[in-house]
Amino acid sequence: MPECTDCGACCFNEHYAYVRVFAVDVERMDGRALAFTHVVDGQRYMRFENGRCMALGLDPQAGRVACTIHPQRPDVCRWLERGSGECRSQIAAKWPTREAGMAAEAARAATAAACSTPRGS
Ligand code: SF4
Ligand code: SF4
Repeated sequence: MPECTDCGACCFNEHYAYVRVFAVDVERMDGRALAFTHVVDGQRYMRFENGRCMALGLDPQAGRVACTIHPQRPDVCRWLERGSGECRSQIAAKWPTREAGMAAEAARAATAAACSTPRGS
């Protein structure tokens, strides 16, 4: 069983309505956290792009992840207990997606580094 910071599988999904953000969540969120949410048909959710929550930070070199709004994360995220059956199901179902996300982030970082290298250096 990995530590959550070595995992992040439950923060990967394609569906826009995967993590609901309730009024009680909004109350604890500051502007930066709220920027990772959006409202669809009158309901607020965490924004998911490229198969993962936009609040999830990836460090492909270290193989680590971090919820960048951890103290302000929605209740839905707090309810999933590490080591529970649901947690294990998430890991079993999503580990390949998590690995693909890490690889994509590593490629994006490499491209960004190449683009920021001055010509002739
Ligand atoms: S709760 Fe489970 S699936 Fe989610 S990050 Fe932690 S170990 Fe991974
Ligand atoms: S808010 Fe944090 S814990 Fe919840 S899905 Fe997004 S990155 Fe994961």
